[in-house]
Amino acid sequence: MRRTTNRTFKFISLLTISVMFISSGCQSQEPPETTEETRIVVPMELSDKTPEGTFAVVTTEPDITELVTPEPTPTPEYIEPEFDETWYNGFVDPRSIRAQIVDNPNDITVLVNKYYALPEDYVPEDLVPCSHSFDQQLRADAAAAWEQLYTDCLAETGEGITLVSGYRDNWTQQYLFDRSRDKNGLAFACKKNAIPGRSEHQLGLAMDITPAGHDNIMDFFDETTTGKWICENGHKYGLIHRYKEEYVYETGYGVEGWHFRYVGVDLATYLYENHMSLEAYYGKQQVVPWDE
Ligand SMILES: [Zn+2]
Repeated sequence: MRRTTNRTFKFISLLTISVMFISSGCQSQEPPETTEETRIVVPMELSDKTPEGTFAVVTTEPDITELVTPEPTPTPEYIEPEFDETWYNGFVDPRSIRAQIVDNPNDITVLVNKYYALPEDYVPEDLVPCSHSFDQQLRADAAAAWEQLYTDCLAETGEGITLVSGYRDNWTQQYLFDRSRDKNGLAFACKKNAIPGRSEHQLGLAMDITPAGHDNIMDFFDETTTGKWICENGHKYGLIHRYKEEYVYETGYGVEGWHFRYVGVDLATYLYENHMSLEAYYGKQQVVPWDE
């Protein structure tokens, strides 16, 4: 203990001498014979005013008293899981997943799923009302795509379509998850419903579509006249059919014939032509337990 104290005392003395040397007009003196820099790094415990992650450096060379701050490494933020990872028939409970918070929520190509979450309270700034909808809103580009999709679908198939659900806020998303769980059980909710912050609907870029004249989504929309037409032509309007049978374990959600996502024409066309999910495009396919 005593030896430590003595060493510390000597260290502080040395430091004091160095500082005095520097502050006593040493510029006018002859430079040191050696050009090799000698550095004394002040340990953190001797310098409790030093900001975290920085080291006060004193050198014997004149005018080279400096603060060296390491380059900050960008660290992703996460939403921590509420409990141990829990799977139901190949569908994981999103609340048991440590989700990375995306740093580009306004990017129309952003990936949001059980593993990639929106920043808390994110709301798109360019939501606009959509025609042929149940008072739904979408981001401006997606809304324009919807209007054109409607017009062309009607012209090509002779049938209209309705936007059942576009943008949703946190509250609505929570309500829908809870309602689904209460009605059909937790396993069903984990297969079909997103929790707040993990839904593409909160991006204002997702569209749940049903044939005109229907009040709600239908399981086999992609087998109806209008649904088939959108599956085959939606990419020309920037839409992808998001939850197809072949993508189920990549995306983490069961089949949804009615759910389309706006990603822009270029990416939508690429994914359509290459039969690729958005997860596969980013190399972020879900890993299910039996693949581990
Ligand atoms: Zn949807």
